[in-house]
Amino acid sequence: MSLKVSKRRPLVAQSEIRNMTLECARVGGVNLAQGVCDLPVPQVVMDGANEAMADGYNIYTRFDGLPRLRQAIADKQKKYTGMDVDPERQVMVSAGATGAFYAACLALLDEGDEVIVFEPYYGYHIVTMASLGIKPVYVTLEPPNWEFCAEDLEKAVTAKTRAIILNTPSNPAGKVFDREELTLIADFAQAHDIFVFTDEIYEHFVYDGLTHISPATLPGMARRTITMSGLSKVFAITGWRLGYAICDPEWALPMGHFNDLVYVCAASPLQIGAAKGMEQLGSEYYQGVSDDHQMKRDLFCDTLRDIGLTPHVPKGAYYTLADVTGLPGRTAKESALYLLEKTGVACVPGSAFYGGPVGETMVRFCFAKEMPILQDAMDRLRKLA
Ligand code: PLP
Repeated sequence: MSLKVSKRRPLVAQSEIRNMTLECARVGGVNLAQGVCDLPVPQVVMDGANEAMADGYNIYTRFDGLPRLRQAIADKQKKYTGMDVDPERQVMVSAGATGAFYAACLALLDEGDEVIVFEPYYGYHIVTMASLGIKPVYVTLEPPNWEFCAEDLEKAVTAKTRAIILNTPSNPAGKVFDREELTLIADFAQAHDIFVFTDEIYEHFVYDGLTHISPATLPGMARRTITMSGLSKVFAITGWRLGYAICDPEWALPMGHFNDLVYVCAASPLQIGAAKGMEQLGSEYYQGVSDDHQMKRDLFCDTLRDIGLTPHVPKGAYYTLADVTGLPGRTAKESALYLLEKTGVACVPGSAFYGGPVGETMVRFCFAKEMPILQDAMDRLRKLA
């Protein structure tokens, strides 16, 4: 048979998030499965993109992005993390943080390499690597504080280990890595001479007065750290596909060349909209986003607690994992479907975030919804009690 799909095809066939979204639409439910943030798009961002089209920003940009956006990214990084970034040689604008990670894997890793990943993990990290023949090796974070120790990392290392992935604040656990933990990871990465890929897409969604720390700012970490983030979440523009990577020029150039190969460049007028947003929106905007989500987190976690689905209260990002061992169902998927049937609220089975069986005890909800939708979801969930 010559007409057939590739061997890597099964890797992307079965996304639990997609499945639950379909199931949710079937019953006309409230979708708390997908990680789409319901904030309004800031006016300056929207107007900026519209004006840019009229101003002629309609052709390819440089493969690593327009100078204005690269400058805005470098300035913002300096202001919020203290990182010194050369916008000309260290920033690559990409098709979302997703595109940045793909370009990094293509440029810096080879088939057969191993990469250490904390679980619960973000599924795209795993599948992106698997599609390139790169093997994830898991280090399990222990609830309730999602802890790990140096020994866990050492056990995961082999001669093939080339990198470790961090996601801080994390999806789905909402873990915000503190300085002590990051120092441990930094020492480990330096001792084994490996890259640190860090996905910081939720950098502005941090609660309880905690501070987001960019691992690249730790002593000795600038050269080996690939920092990835984007505007999808904080400007609520997931459909614009705008993200970026910041790293040493030695890695930024090859990553940029792969970005060129796969995406050519990010959408030109949208880059201007994002640049204007980054230039004009200040700390009050970001603090407002964080306060709004902290309020939603508290309301939502109270609801889960009241109905007996004990939540792991997140310190950042906008998801909560909840214990479903009290619900009918032999697997997390069965419990998630039961919940959808009974309440009309869709969530993601925890098995989507774990290599091993631990995920079968939990599900993930996204609480980044407009208040009326979140209220509807909470009212529906309360029917379980
Ligand atoms: N990284 C993490 C950890 C995410 O949770 C998501 C979206 O859910 C993304 C990246 C996707 O980001 P982008 O839209 O910039 O590709």
